[in-house]
Amino acid sequence: MIKINENYLKLQSSYLFSEIAKRVSAYQQEHPDKKVIKLGIGDVTRPLPEACIEAFHKAVDEMAATRTFRGYGPEQGHGFLREKIAAEDFQARGADISADEIFVSDGAKCDTGNIQEILAVDIRVAIPDPVYPVYLDTNVMAGRTGLFSSGRYDGIVYLEATRDNAFVPEPPKEKVDLIYLCFPNNPTGATVTKAQLKAWVDYARENRALILFDAAYEAFVRDDSLPRSIYEIEGAREVALEFRSFSKTAGFTGTRCAYTVVPKSCMAYTAKGEKRPLHALWNRRHTTKFNGVSYPVQRAAEAVYSKEGKAQVKALIDYYLTNAALVRKEISKLGYECIGGYNSPYIWIDGKTDSWAFFDMLLEKAGVVCTPGAGFGRCGEGYIRISAFNDLEKVEEAMQRIKQALNAD
Ligand code: PLP
Repeated sequence: MIKINENYLKLQSSYLFSEIAKRVSAYQQEHPDKKVIKLGIGDVTRPLPEACIEAFHKAVDEMAATRTFRGYGPEQGHGFLREKIAAEDFQARGADISADEIFVSDGAKCDTGNIQEILAVDIRVAIPDPVYPVYLDTNVMAGRTGLFSSGRYDGIVYLEATRDNAFVPEPPKEKVDLIYLCFPNNPTGATVTKAQLKAWVDYARENRALILFDAAYEAFVRDDSLPRSIYEIEGAREVALEFRSFSKTAGFTGTRCAYTVVPKSCMAYTAKGEKRPLHALWNRRHTTKFNGVSYPVQRAAEAVYSKEGKAQVKALIDYYLTNAALVRKEISKLGYECIGGYNSPYIWIDGKTDSWAFFDMLLEKAGVVCTPGAGFGRCGEGYIRISAFNDLEKVEEAMQRIKQALNAD
């Protein structure tokens, strides 16, 4: 008899986006003339930078000629891209990372989800609340949790991000083995300082733990005092892996390119306590289960690092940051506390009521769609997330409508 992995039965149905769609569709049926503005989505809206498009086209043409055609490439990514990543994203900021520590992939979602495969099942896992759900669900699937009750999985150590800690959890008092961190954060938009990140690196070193650092929104950091990589912190090479993506940096959500950094000095342990480099394990996993990102996509990603590419990416991020600043300014003026929106594309707003009630109010009164914070974890209750990934004109109109609706109350 074929048996299923029963851990999948513990998973909660991810009803957040389907419930949003249901409520929006009901609203649209009742108000067919009203145009809904969606500020809830985490997907980008602007096209790929010119430099990426040019490189992409050129590489497609190479595939059309026998002389320049390419078949399978190295699973870890082409050298031309890995070299640029190491030099520009790390060495240029004083982080000691080399090209052969970079694993190019088709997404930070897959990488943050798959990485736990190389770790034991009986480890203690610490996961933020609220959270990007992939970290939690992939550990449930792997059998590292008990059942779900009162909004939480048994066996997980939840790192609560609340007003009390300015949405940056501190290392726990208890001992954990695996820690997920994400800065700038999705969904809260909070950023981390070097001192706060150092406390985590020190904790991991003391406890022989591993930090999985998701820096998918690193490109939005404009304050030079903030770390853009965990490897700017001394000692992180021994205890941290980092995940990056071209999705939000350069509009690659539909094109797919990302990478994971696995320093050769980062160790984990056998049951007997013997040290093993994670680099060898991840290399084995990656080369066994993945056959590389397509050549034209890697050429398009490489163009992010050209002179033109850098300027175009900066303009792209500036565009979204302008939206974020506008949302933050207008919503704050209405008397709501906002987190994020600086150095981050997300604004986390204290709705002063329950998340879905605030969601319904914005939809009913302003025709604006946000994301209820409760969908990201228990600590998200009472908050909503607004995303800056949109056209400026739409954000301006949404703010105008919200102002009118709330001032009329
Ligand atoms: N990590 C975080 C925190 C995200 O918010 C997202 C996407 O929304 C991802 C990773 C996924 O990135 P990718 O498009 O590279 O799979």
